[in-house]
Amino acid sequence: MFKRIRTRLVLVNTAVFFAILIFICGILYGFTRQQLLSRIDFSLYAAAIPIERGFLPRNRLSTDANVLPIHPRFGQLPTTYLIWSGEGKLLFQLPSGEFTQSEVSAFHQRLNTKRPFTAMVQGHSFRVLNVAFRDSRNLFPNLGTVQVIRNIDETSHELSILLWIIVATIGFGLLMVMGAGLFLAGRALVPIRKSWDRQQKFVADASHELRTPLAVIQGQAELLLRHPERTVEQEAGSVGTIYDEARRMRKLVDSLLTLARADSNQLELDLKNVSLSQLFDSLSDMFMLLCEQQSLQLDLAIEAGIELQGDEDRLRQLILILFDNALKYTPAGGRISISCKCKGNSIHLAVADTGVGIASEDLGHIFERFYRGDKARSRQTGGAGLGLSIAEWIVKAHRGKLTVHSSPGTGSTFQVVIPT
Ligand code: ADP
Repeated sequence: MFKRIRTRLVLVNTAVFFAILIFICGILYGFTRQQLLSRIDFSLYAAAIPIERGFLPRNRLSTDANVLPIHPRFGQLPTTYLIWSGEGKLLFQLPSGEFTQSEVSAFHQRLNTKRPFTAMVQGHSFRVLNVAFRDSRNLFPNLGTVQVIRNIDETSHELSILLWIIVATIGFGLLMVMGAGLFLAGRALVPIRKSWDRQQKFVADASHELRTPLAVIQGQAELLLRHPERTVEQEAGSVGTIYDEARRMRKLVDSLLTLARADSNQLELDLKNVSLSQLFDSLSDMFMLLCEQQSLQLDLAIEAGIELQGDEDRLRQLILILFDNALKYTPAGGRISISCKCKGNSIHLAVADTGVGIASEDLGHIFERFYRGDKARSRQTGGAGLGLSIAEWIVKAHRGKLTVHSSPGTGSTFQVVIPT
């Protein structure tokens, strides 16, 4: 898929570049051509002036070449004059014998063209200007036409060289753009590809995680349906399992939704002045109860009056995730220590335990989605490997930092630093 996108990107890029290049080069070529030809045209007009002004016999058209004075300046230029009668008959050419009969007829075809034009005759380029033949008093319209013709092979050659240079430049430019486009598109697609892969993995993992509780619920429901005569009390086991799995699924779906919304920046913090001291106060009873149930010792060291601008619900969720992990991964007899204090411009919150700790090869991955250090234990404890991803997002959303120090067998400490 990315190969196709890359190719399409490069093609679109190249096409746009090609269009721009053609446009610029077209203007460049057109302008240069226009400049060169207008200089020639100017000289043609200049060469035509004596004829226009009527260096011809007064009142009538002469066929005598001698009456057409060649201006000394024009005489030096390779200009040829074809003098046509009003009926379109070639009267003579000057210098005579410059063009053959067939060449002359090529010019004759465009005798009525008003503006200067370029004619290709026998492989040579000529610039031609038709000048109406007038007597000096302008008494007789359409007395004939003089074609002022100049060979512009040299100019055409220069223009064709320019054209080749432009074509070569465009070709070379296109190759460069394609090469650069391939390289840049490849580089630009790296983060997109990574994010796509991450997303794909996320969806695959999520589906996998959802399948397990769903399968259990389905199995238990089928069991119940096999004995419709039994009471709920008799089937309390199956009903309980269905309830537990549904709760697990609900928790998982909530976590997935949180992360999905966080990814698409749809989750915004509801920022308020939050008293962390009060927040811990409200949670401490539950913490003590849970620790007691698991024969764990709890140390709470919460400074009074700690406040910050934050989202209370999210901060509560963060504390619960860290506490829940400490609870899950600390065996009976262990200790959980929670501290929260203000240092300078930031709040330092730490949840430490004397639990199983985290293996060094897992430490770099625990914040990844669905990553579980000890797979068997995590499944047992009901964790899907999303808790720390959410915790990290909450801390980052508060412009803070979440770090972990841990060694297997000794315990783990999760430290949160949030600027006030
Ligand atoms: P889970 O739902 O599996 O706990 P988390 O994202 O919260 O998912 O944690 C990811 C992994 O990090 C866990 O599977 C576990 O291996 C490790 N972990 C997290 N907290 C602790 C802790 N306090 N002690 C030991 N390991 C932990």
